[in-house]
Amino acid sequence: MPVIAFSRTLSANLSPKNMADIQRTLVLIKPDALQRELVGEVLSRFERKGLKMVAMKMTHLDEVTLTEHYDHIKEKSFFPSLVQYMRSTPVVAIVYEGIEIIDEVRKVVGATNPRKADAGTIRADLSMNVPSNMVHASDSVEASAIEIKRFFQDSELFAYEKLTDRFHFGEGI
Ligand code: UDP
Ligand code: MG
Repeated sequence: MPVIAFSRTLSANLSPKNMADIQRTLVLIKPDALQRELVGEVLSRFERKGLKMVAMKMTHLDEVTLTEHYDHIKEKSFFPSLVQYMRSTPVVAIVYEGIEIIDEVRKVVGATNPRKADAGTIRADLSMNVPSNMVHASDSVEASAIEIKRFFQDSELFAYEKLTDRFHFGEGI
């Protein structure tokens, strides 16, 4: 399947105003979710929200990738245990696409510490602890671009029109 620039994938149902707000974000479903058999629950929360998945795979992270990915906290005392935890099982890596999706996904995921996260978020509802807080999600446009490249080749990102795009991404319907 040819790779199409992602700004074109929703074009049939979007006004120019919305097109400018389309973003992509990287989500990792972490080892505690796999161990606790909550991968489906996490995916279903994102699906119910109406997120459009454009890439997904299972991958086992190595220390180099994790040191890059968690560069901003690599000097912290908890970093070695975070790496050990993140390497304890494979993770599920996903790219979602949509309007203002980076902040929307962070909202659904909730605050870093599940005990401080708002009720209704994945972390508050399904977990109790850090580092095992179920999910990683990119926190900015810059981070999402770097993180998506870290985990996916361009050829692994799919462009397609979803029948529900008009409900989630259209304006004035
Ligand atoms: N983390 C931890 N202890 C802490 C802070 C963070 O184990 O005191 C872990 C936790 O798994 C968190 C990850 O490090 O999700 C990345 O931290 P960040 O501050 O980027 O939080 P996030 O963006 O995941 O909410
Ligand atoms: Mg972070």
